[in-house]
Amino acid sequence: MSGHGFKQSVKNAVEALATAGGVSAWKRRRRALRGGCVILAYHQITDEIQNPHHAAGLIVSISEFHAQMSYLAQSGRVVSLAEAVRASLAPSRGKPGIAVTFDDGYAGVFENAFPILRKHGLPFAVFVTTGVIGTEKTLPGEERFAQVRYPKLGWDQVSKMAEAGAVIGAHGVTHRRLSAIPAAEAREEIERSGAEIERRTGRPTAFFAYPYGGPADHTSETERMIEESGYAAAFLCAGSTVDPPNRFRIDRAPIWSGMSRLAFRNLCDASGSASAVTELSRRLRGPRDGGTPRGRAR
Ligand SMILES: [Zn+2]
Repeated sequence: MSGHGFKQSVKNAVEALATAGGVSAWKRRRRALRGGCVILAYHQITDEIQNPHHAAGLIVSISEFHAQMSYLAQSGRVVSLAEAVRASLAPSRGKPGIAVTFDDGYAGVFENAFPILRKHGLPFAVFVTTGVIGTEKTLPGEERFAQVRYPKLGWDQVSKMAEAGAVIGAHGVTHRRLSAIPAAEAREEIERSGAEIERRTGRPTAFFAYPYGGPADHTSETERMIEESGYAAAFLCAGSTVDPPNRFRIDRAPIWSGMSRLAFRNLCDASGSASAVTELSRRLRGPRDGGTPRGRAR
């Protein structure tokens, strides 16, 4: 590590401690973010934000998203989800690769994010909750959280993104917490969502993202079911720690509305202060959203 790098690390550590309030939490998060890839997790991209406080974790504005993608395009470090999996399991020195993913299946991904991603030629993945695609259904907790009914993707939109090279991954059928339902139902959520994607897009999917994506939202049993169902990898959305790396619980970093450019850059560079940002945003959002969010559409 260079002298500058060390000084930067100390500075980051101080920043992290100032906001995270614990050295062990900081060490844990820093270790997780040191991996060979940072996988970003978005949900809805829209300017229709009626309640910025409640929507903080679900929505990123179009202009924020555009600025973030311009930065990523310039960085030249954006990789496909398959490459991200490989890199996450074999951490390396130097700046990490970055992958872009979306969860749930909001129409804003097709209408607002897709044109920006295509303009910059960036690969991306969309994890869809198959039971709401092409319907007017809301996800569990969504109405309370966003206070707006966001339209979902149609299967034609999903197919268009797949044809343009997007990876379509599974995110369950009904967005239920797999760790909280009977095993037979969890298996059905896992298998049916993947089968529906293959039927609708003509392409099998290798990737699954756990609904809610917190550390308590999956178990070793659900991991085994995902492996047995033929998926190659599965993802969390905890923005914290997975140690040791395991291809059925690869973590991603949720992106919040109002994240500063510096915070976004630090996150993408996997520098320590990104963990402070994550922690800070958790605190601002309150304990309900910390780690194992309840009743929200993540
Ligand atoms: Zn979700």
